[in-house]
Parts: sequence; C-alpha cells; structure tokens
Amino acid sequence: MGRIIAVANQKGGVGKTTTAINLSACLAEQGMKVLTIDIDPQGNTSSGLGIDKNSLENTVYELMIGSCELEDCIIPSVCEDLYVLPSNVNLAGAEIELIGINDKEYILKTYIDKIRDKYDFIIIDCPPSLNTLTVNAMTTADTVLVPIQCEYYALEGLTQLIHTINLVRERLNPDLEIEGVVFTMYDARTNLSLQVVENVKENLKQNIYKSIIPRNVRLAEAPSHGKPINIYDPKSAGADGYRDLAREVIERGEG
Ligand code: ADP
Ligand code: MG
Repeated sequence: MGRIIAVANQKGGVGKTTTAINLSACLAEQGMKVLTIDIDPQGNTSSGLGIDKNSLENTVYELMIGSCELEDCIIPSVCEDLYVLPSNVNLAGAEIELIGINDKEYILKTYIDKIRDKYDFIIIDCPPSLNTLTVNAMTTADTVLVPIQCEYYALEGLTQLIHTINLVRERLNPDLEIEGVVFTMYDARTNLSLQVVENVKENLKQNIYKSIIPRNVRLAEAPSHGKPINIYDPKSAGADGYRDLAREVIERGEG
C-alpha cells in the first residue's frame, strides 16, 4: 500500500516545496511510483515539476469542490513514474468555499483513498499555514515530514505545528505519525547551521533524518526551468542531498 507523506510547516520559506518536488523526483528515480499532490494555491510544486499551472482546466481545487474526477486532474510530470495532482491560484478561495460543508476535513482523503494502492509514495506539499487545506493533507496522510531551515528561529512555531498534528491525531486521523524532521539550507561554512542542528537534536524527541539538505544555488534555480534537481543538475550537492533523503525515507518504510 502506498505511503502518504504530508510535507508541512506553517512557516513560509523553510523548504517545503523544494523538498516535496525533489523528494518526489528522487523517489521516482529510485524506482518508486509517485504521486505528488500540490495543495498550496501558489502552485510552485506543480510548476517546479514542469507543469504549466495557469493553463490547467482541472486542479485539486476543481476536485475538492466536486466539479471534476480524479482521472481528469492527475497528470504526468517531467519525470518518469512521477504524477502530479496540481494546483494553482484557484485554490486560494477554497478555504472560504468549504465553510459549512460536511466533513470538509476529509474531502481530499475520500478521493485519495481510492487510488493510494496505485502508488508507492504520495507526497503532499502543504501551504504555509495551519488551515483547512493543511488539515485535509493531514487527514489524508500517514505521516508528516517537517522541513526545518537551518537559521536562528528554526524552532519557532514548531510547538504549534506539533500541537496541530496531535489535535488532528486525536480528533480526525488516529493513525497520523510524525515522519520526521529534515534540515534544509544547511550552510557548512557557518557555525549557525551546526548550532541549529545541535539545538534541534537536543530539544526534539522526533525522528531526525540523517540526510541534511545543503544550501545549494542549483536547488533555487531548478524550478524556473520546470525541472527537479536530479534532472536539472544531477551532480549537484542538492541532488545528492535529496537522493540520500529519498533512500532514507524508503528504508524507514521497510524497517
Ligand atoms: P516553502 O515551500 O517552505 O515556502 P520553498 O521550498 O519555496 O519553501 O523555499 C523557499 C526559497 O528558498 C525558494 O526560493 C527556494 O528556491 C529556496 N531554497 C529552498 N531550499 C533551498 C536550498 N537547499 N538551497 C538553496 N535554496 C533553497
Ligand atoms: Mg511552498
């Protein structure tokens, strides 16, 4: 059965989207069949995987409001074995449109449960807030992967995120677990990155991935070419980082 991982952290700019794109692509490169769900109205995961987000007729928004079927909105990406359920700015109004709808926390789950067997991994990129869309991702997911940027305020907001995950577990999805924490934008030239890693390790009980994603300009460039890092620059340090992470994620599932 496919494993469903939501990439979440309500802080913006910590590397959620970069992780969703490149973890998905590296899982596919390692022989996994992957579906990436973009549930952020910014649609950057969709465009980063080579999809022209503004020309789409059907996206996760149309799916969630019931105006299209799953098979109408899942499309191939630039990578073999990697499919995308895309989003774009249409999704920005969903929060309000879903007010008063029954079981609005489970809309995505109801659809994804029907197809999860078709994939080895389903990766969901969340928006930078703890809203209905993020809750939909957390009810659909088996685990939450939390990217932490190696900067001074790294731990800020983490208590709130873990509280939200615990609430979702208590009330909506009893099986939800924390997949683990992954450090992003690690800069080996500064003491700060090292200190942040040490500090988080001391303060967090959760699983921490051994793979650390370096700060690498190629990772920042790749989305403007519509390619994940393993295609845009397969030999870069960023590609190595996400390949290691993908390997570790696969191993964790087996172990
Ligand atoms: P989020 O989805 O959490 O808001 P993003 O993945 O969009 O964060 O990353 C924020 C910015 O940082 C983007 O411009 C992205 O290209 C850049 N970025 C992310 N990870 C790295 C990295 N490891 N090295 C260099 N730049 C990165
Ligand atoms: Mg993002």
